[in-house]
Amino acid sequence: MCQLCESGLIQDHSISRHAPFMSAAPVMAPVGGGGGSAATTASMPRDSGAPGRRILIRGGHVMSMDPEVGDFAKADVLVEGRTIAAVGPDLDASGADIVEAGGMIVMPGFIDTHHHQFETALRSFLADGILVNDGQPHSAVNYYEHILQKFSLVYRPEDVYVSEMFGSLSQLDAGVTTVMDISQIHHSPEHSDAAIQALKDAGRRAAFGYFEGWGDGSKYPDDARRIRSEHFASDDQLVTMVMGGEIYIPGYEKSWKIGRELGLPVALHVVGTFGMASTFDELAKSGAFGPDNIFIHMTGMSDLAWKAAADAGSHVSLAVPIEMNMRHGMPPIQKALDLGMEPSLSSDVECTLTADPFTQMRSAMMLQRAFINESALGGEEKLPMMLTARDVLRLATLSGAKGLGLDGKTGSLTPGKEADIVLLDATALNVAPLNNVPGAVVSLMDRSNVDTVMIAGRIRKWRGALQGADIARMRSELEASRDYLFEAAGIEQDLFRV
Ligand SMILES: [Zn+2]
Repeated sequence: MCQLCESGLIQDHSISRHAPFMSAAPVMAPVGGGGGSAATTASMPRDSGAPGRRILIRGGHVMSMDPEVGDFAKADVLVEGRTIAAVGPDLDASGADIVEAGGMIVMPGFIDTHHHQFETALRSFLADGILVNDGQPHSAVNYYEHILQKFSLVYRPEDVYVSEMFGSLSQLDAGVTTVMDISQIHHSPEHSDAAIQALKDAGRRAAFGYFEGWGDGSKYPDDARRIRSEHFASDDQLVTMVMGGEIYIPGYEKSWKIGRELGLPVALHVVGTFGMASTFDELAKSGAFGPDNIFIHMTGMSDLAWKAAADAGSHVSLAVPIEMNMRHGMPPIQKALDLGMEPSLSSDVECTLTADPFTQMRSAMMLQRAFINESALGGEEKLPMMLTARDVLRLATLSGAKGLGLDGKTGSLTPGKEADIVLLDATALNVAPLNNVPGAVVSLMDRSNVDTVMIAGRIRKWRGALQGADIARMRSELEASRDYLFEAAGIEQDLFRV
């Protein structure tokens, strides 16, 4: 049962898989930039995602991100039920509803492998802040003391729910079809259940990261067993589970053990500025790393640890703009590439920076190239390859799917995978004329170009309008939650705080 419904704020659950299926979701006012399109007169196909339902996305610029499938200047994508049935030009699709995609770039949805969605109510609060108080100038306002040690301690389950929900829908609107949510807010089983319920109600593909909580009511990590059996008995659902195993928390070995017993990936932040390098080195030497590990940031780690992570097939999630902004250390993107690793991109925290995928992609590409350009200008000759727009798109799609162990289901437009698809408007004022598909997405686009979003065959955003969500009502809930959080944490609301 939805917590907002229970509290009397009746939600439209036409978007929710556990709710009765509705034949047509109401069309709400556009959210975000309201991407225009060439086919605004066509109505939204009904029952998208339902078993046997066929939808033909016709005549788009198709970038599959699967080398076996390839790219097409003009082609169709046939969706049947939840899955991609075919990709190619002039597909025969009798009985299918047609989605005209002329002028649209058709590609897999973006994947964010590390996002603390419970902090949505705190957006922009810490725009100038850094990670910890390290005694240096400008570190008095910092993430650890303000967000983790003040705000997060006063969260109630309902605050978790509304932030998770609003953050999910916002990223869905921006074309992010899969997220790993790092909810370090498990102060009680009720907090955990609220986070999971919001991820399910949002109807997006998500990995629920069961990380720590604080206080006497916290049952982390033991409650992982209940959560696994109660909410994630099947791995074949839109929301799956990841175990958090932060090595700065005493007793982290138990979290790793439980995660592995339950067959879950084990994810953790690894940041030099928190003094984790020596522990990480010990784990590296003991052979503790595995292909089930997701290491977030990896700033300031030793060559030994990097090699152990690469050899073990562990995954690295880079939050490039946050790492640059908040003093995590220089994003180790070149390090990962040199070792043949395939990092994914992640947004991290919206208390400091936007979670839109275009910011992640542009930041990663610009930083990697800036280093190489500087070396080239300095006369160095043995230079690494520069990331291209296509390379970065891979990091933001298929690499993320691989990192989360979801590449059998998503990350590329491959027949047989589930249909997580975005249509990006290349006819828009900020993009036309289209001369290069990967380049247009990475170097020109923003969320206003996200025209249509499909998740597991179901249309969630249609011609610039998010479907099946009462955003105005949810925003007022979020604002009320924000007001409570500031008051309970004893922090004054100040729109011009410095
Ligand atoms: Zn993080």
